[in-house]
Amino acid sequence: MKKDYYEILGVSKTASPDEIKSAFRKLAKKYHPDVSKEENAAEKFKECQEAYAVLSDENKRKQYDQYGHAAFENNGSGGYDFSGFDFSDIFSDLFGSSFGFNFGGNSRGKTKGRDRIMRVDLTFEEAVFGTKKTINIDTYEECDSCYGKGGFDESICPTCHGTGTVTAEQRTLFGSFMTKTTCPKCSGKGRSYKKICSKCSGSGKIKVNKDIEVKVPAGVDTGNQQRVSGYGEFGVAGCGDLYLEYRVRGHELFERDGNDIYLEVPLTITEAVLGCKKEIPTLTGKVKLTIEPGSNTGDKLRLKGKGIDDVHSYRKGDMYVILKVILPDKLSRDQKKLFEQLDKTDLETKDFNKFNNYMKK
Ligand SMILES: [Zn+2]
Ligand SMILES: [Zn+2]
Repeated sequence: MKKDYYEILGVSKTASPDEIKSAFRKLAKKYHPDVSKEENAAEKFKECQEAYAVLSDENKRKQYDQYGHAAFENNGSGGYDFSGFDFSDIFSDLFGSSFGFNFGGNSRGKTKGRDRIMRVDLTFEEAVFGTKKTINIDTYEECDSCYGKGGFDESICPTCHGTGTVTAEQRTLFGSFMTKTTCPKCSGKGRSYKKICSKCSGSGKIKVNKDIEVKVPAGVDTGNQQRVSGYGEFGVAGCGDLYLEYRVRGHELFERDGNDIYLEVPLTITEAVLGCKKEIPTLTGKVKLTIEPGSNTGDKLRLKGKGIDDVHSYRKGDMYVILKVILPDKLSRDQKKLFEQLDKTDLETKDFNKFNNYMKK
């Protein structure tokens, strides 16, 4: 079982960004592998970094709150891949570094592209049943002129001798130690090129506009976000992620409340008084509903499991039918006669007692 990110940082689910930052700083100081004497420091330090990379990012935190670790499990590593995350502001602040540490092959200047958000409108039915959406986006692909290298006439970078990193001595209040940073000459590629590719200006990537198909899970609601990995903005260490934020349109008859749906059903006065079988719509087709004699406006009938699929479990919401007795506003001559006959009978029930007793005083 993977540990909860909030537990790792020792903060509550409602912790503010400042609380999260301060908790991470404390733990980073405790477990930093260069200074920590704790057991499994490196492992714990990585764990904290992963948790912080997610919880310090408003979008990723929302995703995590909604889907748990499942939000990030499709990258194969079994956890959030924080290699593109820039920790340098925290560490420089913490350890007095001027250029940040190099963890997981990442440092300032070699970061992942930023995430971006796109709003997607869904019909009520698309949200309830799930759908496939074609999204048109500007994205980046490997440059077909240089095959992603960024240039021609390759040679090993003379500054870093092909390793992509340079080592520098770092003096801090914990003593001095060696740190690695991305090679400034080759930006970490380890190679340099005599001729820069003109098509991609050396980045190795070119901007393309394309359609991607996204599977929208059944049960999404307005405000839900879905992550599409790798379609964010371009960065040296890879593209950020694209988040689709859904906006679900209303339905003609159904009202949605979370996974439950509400349907107001109009009844005539005789249907309500005598009871009837009433055909009503549900999400999965029409059904005949038994209306008991003596039903009244506001009566609520529950159809268990006839609501919306929960987006992150196998549970289902319920459907509620709310009855509304509609009195006729115009009567034919025959109808009027019938009501007049009815009026001669005693229609009062015990509900009239309070009023009638008062009137007798
Ligand atoms: Zn190119
Ligand atoms: Zn280099």
